Amino acid sequence: MEIESFVKNTSIAYFSMEIGIIPEMHTYSGGLGILAGDTLKSAADLRIPLIGVTLIHRMGYFKQELDPFGRQIEHPDPWDIEKYLKKIDIKISVSIEGKPVYVTAWYYVIESSTGGKVPVLFLDTDIPENSPENRTLTHYLYGGDLEYRLKQEIILGIGGVRILEELGFDIRKYHMNEGHSSLLTLELLNRFKRPLEEVWSEELVWDVEKVRNLCVFTTHTPVEAGHDRFPYELVQKVVGEPVPMWLIKKLAGDGMLNMTLLGFNLSEYINGVSKKHEEVSERMFPGYEIHAITNGVHPYTWVCEPFKNLYNKYLPGWANEPEIFVRAWRIPSEEIWDAHMQAKKALIDYVNRITGANLSYDTFTIGFARRATPYKRADLLLSDPERLAYIAEGRVQIIYGGKAHPRDEGGKALIRRIFEIKERLKDRVKIVYLPNYDMALAMKMVSGVDIWLNNPLKPYEASGTSGMKATHNAVPNFSVLDGWWIEGWIEGYTGWAIGTLEETSDSRIDAEDLYFKLANEILPMFYEKRDIWIKVMKNAIALNAYYFNTHRMIRFYVTEAYIR
Ligand SMILES: *Cc1c(COP(=O)(O)O)cnc(C)c1O
Repeated sequence: MEIESFVKNTSIAYFSMEIGIIPEMHTYSGGLGILAGDTLKSAADLRIPLIGVTLIHRMGYFKQELDPFGRQIEHPDPWDIEKYLKKIDIKISVSIEGKPVYVTAWYYVIESSTGGKVPVLFLDTDIPENSPENRTLTHYLYGGDLEYRLKQEIILGIGGVRILEELGFDIRKYHMNEGHSSLLTLELLNRFKRPLEEVWSEELVWDVEKVRNLCVFTTHTPVEAGHDRFPYELVQKVVGEPVPMWLIKKLAGDGMLNMTLLGFNLSEYINGVSKKHEEVSERMFPGYEIHAITNGVHPYTWVCEPFKNLYNKYLPGWANEPEIFVRAWRIPSEEIWDAHMQAKKALIDYVNRITGANLSYDTFTIGFARRATPYKRADLLLSDPERLAYIAEGRVQIIYGGKAHPRDEGGKALIRRIFEIKERLKDRVKIVYLPNYDMALAMKMVSGVDIWLNNPLKPYEASGTSGMKATHNAVPNFSVLDGWWIEGWIEGYTGWAIGTLEETSDSRIDAEDLYFKLANEILPMFYEKRDIWIKVMKNAIALNAYYFNTHRMIRFYVTEAYIR
């Protein structure tokens, strides 16, 4: 299948700095990228005419090794590009530091069993036309310094629009998945310039309304500091003035170029990724109308084999119509438990093989895996080791995973701390930390544990998606009330809350609640009222998975954002 075959019928371009499709393609780091991949997969299932645009990231994010003290060692993580992508014979250029940098592209086609197909473009500067330094610009995801990042964003935003145009695509909507691609708006402003002699005013040359009608922006960051920002000296040096600086400053902020603001000012539709996140974002950016489209996960990707078989038997059609999960109670309890135990055994066997930890199939297993960074509080469960040991001895085992960004010292310290406590409790509570958390490990973990734990500081979790993956495998959530869980939580029915609905966190209160519910509600139900426990598992499918999937999510994007 040639990329040209998509030109005529594709009208929406989905831009994302990372897109995670399969574990073998190292083009993602975590939640944002996997969400992008899941979105495009649902688009393929539903035959929505999208094309994805991202960078090729030849060296990946990084491969994580952990030494016996939990010190993180980072390795480049190259992947077999030629095995998965097809090269396109194309070359455009973008201006970086006033000189041309040439960009080519590769593509991958996401194919659904429904026959739907969605192509994804991977932009690449590693070609002989470029200087050795510029050739590395599409090597590392989130690597390098601010300048490297800005150059990557020129390639993604401006280069992406030019590649699409060169290929002949007639794009009606540009969807920016987070601010990394916001520079595409400058390219569009240039493209739709009005001739000065028609408007007689320098300001009216720029058809802001026209560009706004073409753009959709999704923000994922509930904290001020998380938004991509560049000093104007750097912008002047690296980007130059694709449109005049006064206009850039008017659209992207006076002090620094704020990519979110630029995206906001040039998008007709803006959304956050959960209802709570919408609320938080509106407070952070007063005056902007921000909508909410709560994230989801791609059902077929995130259901493990034993549950696929079960769903095929009792809920045929589920993969393309996850609303059918609402009837999960049709599945006999023994078969739910049996499928869960198959997934659990697969995980425990894997853990025991690589760590020698000798975990048991029958012990209640807590899973916690996500980016290791302080606000996620991976050590909350370990904050009172003696109390944990008292509750957990012989009854609980814990499986951790997660990478810290190479420059996140706080995140790295967190991993070392977990290793310390793991060592201290080793004769009483089995704790393991699995290295190199990626899509493949996530699949094993979210399906193989008994409960999925999530306890970030509020309101930092814009949505969270790993808990949604767990629900697709009948694994209930035990989570603070932030992001998606506020919408999915029914206490004691779909899982459990940690702490209150209040918007800020108190780690002491949260830890107290966590220990209390674990000891008095969760463990007694799991060990002594297994029939009720299995009902909670069914509710995870029927009341959570039926809604928190990318099929529902992308239908919202189509009706609220794309067709306007
Ligand atoms: C799903 C996933 C994430 C995101 O998890 P959150 O709960 O949103 O933090 C990160 N990394 C990997 C490998 C995943 O599969």
